[in-house]
Amino acid sequence: MRRTLLIVDDEPHILNTLIRLFRNRGFYLLTASSGEEALRLLASNEVEVILTDQRMPNMTGSELLSRAKVLYPGTVRMVLSGYSDVEAITDAINRGNIYKFLLKPWDNDLLLANVQEAFDRFDLTQKGEQFTKIYENTVEGIIITDQNTLIQAVNPAFSNITGYQSAEVIGKKTSLLKSGKHDENFYRLIWERLNEDGKWTGEIWSKRKSGEIYPEWLNITAIRDDQGKVTQYVGLFSDVSEHKRNEERLHYLAYHDALTDLPNRLMFSEHLELAVRQAERNHKKAVVLLIDLDRFKNVNDSFGMELGDKLLIAVAERLKARLHKGDTIARMGGDEYTVLLPLVDDMNDVNLFVEQMMADLRKPFSINENELFIGASIGVSVAPQDGVTPDDILKKADSALYKAKEMGRNTFVFFAPSMNESAVERTIIENDLRRALERGEIEVFYQPKQRLETNTVIGMEALVRWNHPSRGLVSPSVFIGVAEDTGLIIALGKIILEEACRKTSELHAKGFSNLHVAVNLSAVQFKDEYLLDEISVILDKTGLAPRFLEIEITESAVMHDIESNIEFLVVLKRLGINLAIDDFGTGYSSLSYLKRLPVDFLKIDQSFVRDVNADLHSAELVRTIIAMAHGLKLEVIAEGVETLDQLEFLRHHGCDIIQGYYLSRPLSFADFETFMTKSLNPEG
Ligand code: C2E
Ligand code: MG
Ligand code: MG
Repeated sequence: MRRTLLIVDDEPHILNTLIRLFRNRGFYLLTASSGEEALRLLASNEVEVILTDQRMPNMTGSELLSRAKVLYPGTVRMVLSGYSDVEAITDAINRGNIYKFLLKPWDNDLLLANVQEAFDRFDLTQKGEQFTKIYENTVEGIIITDQNTLIQAVNPAFSNITGYQSAEVIGKKTSLLKSGKHDENFYRLIWERLNEDGKWTGEIWSKRKSGEIYPEWLNITAIRDDQGKVTQYVGLFSDVSEHKRNEERLHYLAYHDALTDLPNRLMFSEHLELAVRQAERNHKKAVVLLIDLDRFKNVNDSFGMELGDKLLIAVAERLKARLHKGDTIARMGGDEYTVLLPLVDDMNDVNLFVEQMMADLRKPFSINENELFIGASIGVSVAPQDGVTPDDILKKADSALYKAKEMGRNTFVFFAPSMNESAVERTIIENDLRRALERGEIEVFYQPKQRLETNTVIGMEALVRWNHPSRGLVSPSVFIGVAEDTGLIIALGKIILEEACRKTSELHAKGFSNLHVAVNLSAVQFKDEYLLDEISVILDKTGLAPRFLEIEITESAVMHDIESNIEFLVVLKRLGINLAIDDFGTGYSSLSYLKRLPVDFLKIDQSFVRDVNADLHSAELVRTIIAMAHGLKLEVIAEGVETLDQLEFLRHHGCDIIQGYYLSRPLSFADFETFMTKSLNPEG
């Protein structure tokens, strides 16, 4: 720090003597030989201490210092003069213009000590001013009491926080601010600390004038006199209610999903960890359901994120409604939810619970006037048998979920140790599938369809099978997904289409001349610009008239990117090919779109047909679809018909065509031929 000393004297030899005295003592020296010159120096320099002669021609020392006080109140001002001048400057001293009066002639050591002390004085005043500034302006409340906790002073921030003006509290005891939230023991501990360490810091609830209680962060210090006796207490505190609210909010955010307000993965994992320990102690099980919505992505793609978000919230609500006290539900992100059932005794209860949950999710969601059908796949894992750490248990549930999706979705699967290979299996499938196409391992099976009115077989659906050298017949649900992901579906689809058309022509030639063949197209194939040409070429090559070919597209595939699909379907239709919407009811077809699509058939999804006699909702849905389709002049095909009861229900409600195990499983071509021969000659 620079310590600037200004020396003023009109007598040059005195000035020089003083300069010699103060030189090399750590001061920065300024000298002036008149009051005017001194004021000029003060204006352009920062000066801490002024030492001036009293008697000078135009301006006396005390005059100079009284001006300096006004202009530079922070300076420490001293006069060095002859004894006879005392009277003249007493008044100036009393008014505070002059800090000290020193006598000429002086004692060198004494003068040095006095100047030194003047600089110390300057530092102290500065600190004092700083303190006052802090005291007045700080956002922290300050409260000063005597040794009996009678309030002596408070600062403006105290008033802001507590609502009390200083006049209202001075002389009162601090107990005025007690919240009533703490017991005697709490205060006793504070006093113990204050008596032992002289300070206490912590969070404490206080009461505002309004009666509102609030948390504050409080620091109390005991002030002692030279004998060590406490004379005062100083309390420094800040209102932490905002901070506490933020903290709570932060904690909440860290543990919750912002969209649905459900617990998130973090909270779920913590609950799961506890639940596993609890289950082990009680010889029970903790069960985890990992729920994935089947058609969420399609909804999001076709209707936009905003509707997608609403759907996710609605799903959360519906899932929550199913839970019991103690269960946890969380959103893991995307369209994945988890449910934790702690302390499970009987796995039959879990089965029932999962089935109910699936049924809940099969019911339509009505959002922005759209009826959305989404459904879900669920993977289930059980602790401690499948794992004990949250990570492991969730991983197992994920493997089970993967399996559930592989099995055609809308279903649930319990984890089994063999499932760990799923990911590996996908890679194997991909490699094998490439070879399968070259080696002709792809076969097409045919499942007959019957018109209910006439009881005649009117056609069949072509269903692909993979005749794997070591695995035997592999179901399309295992490899269609992989084929789609890898683009192999294009080549595969061509093989199937050509095979189906060729065999149908063959059957026509054999006398079954009215058979229609339905071939499934996957969404990826739509994107293939050569598809239309290829279909024409295949029809030509195999000699099948277009009206005997039916293309099946799933509802969700059509609704995805609907505008460009409509165009594509119109062209197909123009070629004379028939169109069916597959798995109807599982998507979210809006009627307005359906009207614009040039389709001929709706195939009701088998999940509804399956429950038609068991579940009022499915029954109603099937009836509605039939009525609606007829209103649009479409024919209805029910797939997955397995029982006579189902068939009767469908017949009763006017369904046109059925397909399913009740009539026949999908058959190899040879078996299908036999089937047809028998159905023509039932006795034969
Ligand atoms: P999809 O087109 O809805 O086919 C109907 C599925 O239901 C077939 O399964 C069929 O075997 C099965 N099914 C028929 N009747 C019954 C019944 O009474 N009960 C039960 N539980 N199931 C019945 P599959 O053959 O395993 O085919 C599954 C799915 O794979 C098909 O569903 C279709 O989406 C796809 N797929 C099959 N073949 C092809 C194909 O050549 N190309 C494409 N892109 N997808 C295909
Ligand atoms: Mg189909
Ligand atoms: Mg289907």
